[in-house]
Amino acid sequence: MTPYPTKITFGEMREMGVRGVLVYCRHRCGHHTEISADGWADDVRLSDIEPRFVCQRCGKRGAEIRPDHQRAKMGTDA
Ligand SMILES: [Zn+2]
Repeated sequence: MTPYPTKITFGEMREMGVRGVLVYCRHRCGHHTEISADGWADDVRLSDIEPRFVCQRCGKRGAEIRPDHQRAKMGTDA
């Protein structure tokens, strides 16, 4: 398994065809959620927004964000 590059920006991620991100709780409560990447500017890094998230299960701040490659459309749109 290759670690995801968390320094990439939303713009770079969209170039890869990824349209969503997975947000994982940093506090080992197991909570994670999917959000759309559409609302974020191209020059925002995934790591930039990690501190903004508050876990809906344990209430603590801090997340780990990864591109949701499962949602990527593989070569179907230009
Ligand atoms: Zn949590």
